[in-house]
Amino acid sequence: MLDAVIVGAGPSGLAAGYEMTRHGARVAVLERLDRVGGLARTMPHDGCLFDIGPHRFFTKNEEVRQLFVDIVAEDLLRVPRLTRIYYRNKFFNYPLTPLNALFGVGVASSVAIFLSYLNAAARQTISPVEPVNFEQWVTNQFGSRLYETFFKTYTEKVWGIPCTQIGADWAGQRIKGLSLIAAVQNALLNGKGNKIKTLVDEFLFPRLGAGQLYEKLAQRIEDRGNTVAVGRKVLRMNREGLRVRSVEVCDGQGRAEEYEGGYFMSSAPLTEMVEMMNPAPPDAVLAACRSLRYRDHVGVHLKVEGTPFPDNWIYVHDKRFRMARIANFRNFSHAMAEHDGVSPLTVEYFTFKGDDTWRRSDEELIDFALGEIAQMFVGKTTRPISGFVVRSEKAYPVIELGFQKHIDVIKSWLDGFENLKPIGRSGMFKYNNQDHAIATGLLAARTALGLGKYDPWLVNIDAEYHEAGESK
Ligand SMILES: Cc1cc2nc3c(=O)[nH]c(=O)nc-3n(C[C@H](O)[C@H](O)[C@H](O)COP(=O)(O)OP(=O)(O)OC[C@H]3O[C@@H](n4cnc5c(N)ncnc54)[C@H](O)[C@@H]3O)c2cc1C
Repeated sequence: MLDAVIVGAGPSGLAAGYEMTRHGARVAVLERLDRVGGLARTMPHDGCLFDIGPHRFFTKNEEVRQLFVDIVAEDLLRVPRLTRIYYRNKFFNYPLTPLNALFGVGVASSVAIFLSYLNAAARQTISPVEPVNFEQWVTNQFGSRLYETFFKTYTEKVWGIPCTQIGADWAGQRIKGLSLIAAVQNALLNGKGNKIKTLVDEFLFPRLGAGQLYEKLAQRIEDRGNTVAVGRKVLRMNREGLRVRSVEVCDGQGRAEEYEGGYFMSSAPLTEMVEMMNPAPPDAVLAACRSLRYRDHVGVHLKVEGTPFPDNWIYVHDKRFRMARIANFRNFSHAMAEHDGVSPLTVEYFTFKGDDTWRRSDEELIDFALGEIAQMFVGKTTRPISGFVVRSEKAYPVIELGFQKHIDVIKSWLDGFENLKPIGRSGMFKYNNQDHAIATGLLAARTALGLGKYDPWLVNIDAEYHEAGESK
């Protein structure tokens, strides 16, 4: 019998497998796709490399940072960050710089934004109101004009629900520490001194794409004589009371396999893991699962001639465009482009499975994305060479008002298990980034190894987003 069975070879599952095997444990990591890396995987196509969407690695956790540096080793790059916002036919620096913003929105709007900010700041000083939803949080912090101009459309594109239904805690996590005054100060100081969270101007990146870290981690696990099996979808989790005994897997050829283990860690979406339980969980737990929603993601990946823009990625706030972001991986690492004359671009759409974007054929999506690019970069011809589409289900847990009470029901049932830990982002229904996902895997592994009792649910709980702290 294996010491541990790990569901999913994304960042959290591979970190768990790496830590277990570092201590000599025997594990199997089971991955339903045909490659490792999960949402942070890198896919080869026509001589280029594409990530699912832009993946910037940043962490305040020194252990996770060291792991990243040690594993990526000779392939580590420090990439200068250039990201802009596209809004009403104009490109705005992100982070905002005063002159660029002033010329972009015009003097009258800039004054209106500043006055609305002063108004919000005064209101918050005189009678502070605890924000409940995203709209209230941002309006309290920046004023209603800046919220309407720069936050509302993009956020609603990403989440597919009104900002009034998104919990304030997500805003706190995402943009904590940033205020209008601080942003202006940062711009005037030209990045000197302490940097606030969203203003980090350089990031670490593996030469061959975000997924290279995970390919290397999987290799380490295999080098220690353990299995990382791709094309293995876990379908069922057999339990006796509150102890998991085995998982049943389909190997893609329709053959069934069963893996028994002493301990189980799962990065499959939390709702799916609970539904896999045999016997089924209590009705209240199933009902809580069915009340949670995930947002799905469609990446249109295009190899094009030339370099249409110098940014790593551009946030597309403009309502006239369906795309939310466009990335050029050549601007992350030249090694991701076949040669200097081409760019691997990814155009991102956020959807709910089954909606119009999700249902379009790959050819339609590629044409649609090329049409949006042509409209955005007027006068620049972006000659397409080839392309492909990746649809990722359950890419973002929807942190909508009221979600926490459902999580509490599921969590309190799962907490009773002797040998099971949900890990990662979709696995714990948390807005976890790579570093958080890795940390949950490491902590779950240490618990499984008997090195102490660690609680992966506490990772990322201080609501400080990964852009926090000083740039490294
Ligand atoms: C578009 C986009 C952009 C992002 N940008 C950033 C960024 O800039 N910086 C950052 O740090 N993070 C970013 N992230 C987040 C990052 O991708 C995740 O935090 C990370 O991938 C989570 O790792 P995980 O192991 O928890 O989950 P996943 O990456 O989802 O891995 C889970 C794995 O489990 C597998 N699986 C699921 N069900 C089963 C089953 N039944 N049987 C077997 N295998 C199964 C899946 O196929 C998957 O490979 C981004 C995410 C997206 C979608």
